[in-house]
Amino acid sequence: MLAALVVLLAVLFIFSRGERASRRAIMPAQPQVETLQTTQITETQENMEPQTPEVTEPITLELLMGKVDPASNPHFAAIEAKYATRSGMFMRREAYEAFVKMLEAARADGVNLVIVSAMRTYNHQRRIWNDKWNGRQMLEGNISATSITDPVERAREILRFSAMPGTSRHHWGTDIDLNSLVNSHFESGQGKRVYEWLQQNAAQFGFCQPYTAQGANRNGGYEEEKWHWSYKPVSELYLEAFKQSVAYEQITGFDGWETASQIGVIERYVLDVNEDCKN
Ligand SMILES: [Zn+2]
Repeated sequence: MLAALVVLLAVLFIFSRGERASRRAIMPAQPQVETLQTTQITETQENMEPQTPEVTEPITLELLMGKVDPASNPHFAAIEAKYATRSGMFMRREAYEAFVKMLEAARADGVNLVIVSAMRTYNHQRRIWNDKWNGRQMLEGNISATSITDPVERAREILRFSAMPGTSRHHWGTDIDLNSLVNSHFESGQGKRVYEWLQQNAAQFGFCQPYTAQGANRNGGYEEEKWHWSYKPVSELYLEAFKQSVAYEQITGFDGWETASQIGVIERYVLDVNEDCKN
């Protein structure tokens, strides 16, 4: 009797595995970068939740690596000064429209959102990186990167919070930093309310937090950034395109660029984001 039951369970187990495997086998293949184009959002769809990405242009290396001028590129919009800590910042149009809707909903709940940083060009990121590399800008903990002689170690220390030029999600115009650039701001008082509101509501507007605490739903990469939010309908396409089209030979042109492949910046940093931000 017992033996019959064991056999029956074994058969059921094998059957269910086989079914899962065959279901996996009929999953559609991932689209190629060139075909990552979808329909434009129309007026009638405007009030719908962002489900259909509105990327209509080919995702070029220039767009992926921030080698564009957002002021003269039609995919970017200037952020109104009232939404930001300063004027002269840009975001992708779809991301900006979604952000304004999110900001209005937050405001109705008594929560104030302010953009601290948005689209950053390759040159802007190079300035940030080189200033840290050469000790002109201190690292977290007020240490100078120049005190670290091993180039790989020096780059890793900068990479705790800053991306190598060409590899920042800020290049895409889909990602923004909100309210403060320190995690402790979001751990008490008004900052905590802001973070809790975002955790509960940001997804409704298409936003996700790429750099959650390490370990929970990602392996390592950048440290936790409670301020950094990403417009997923577009950024998930950019992430996929980055994976397919950017190679280490393109990550050059700044101090210590040689360390990128040694560290595995693409795999360990760019691609290691919260699962919620992947397609
Ligand atoms: Zn950021």
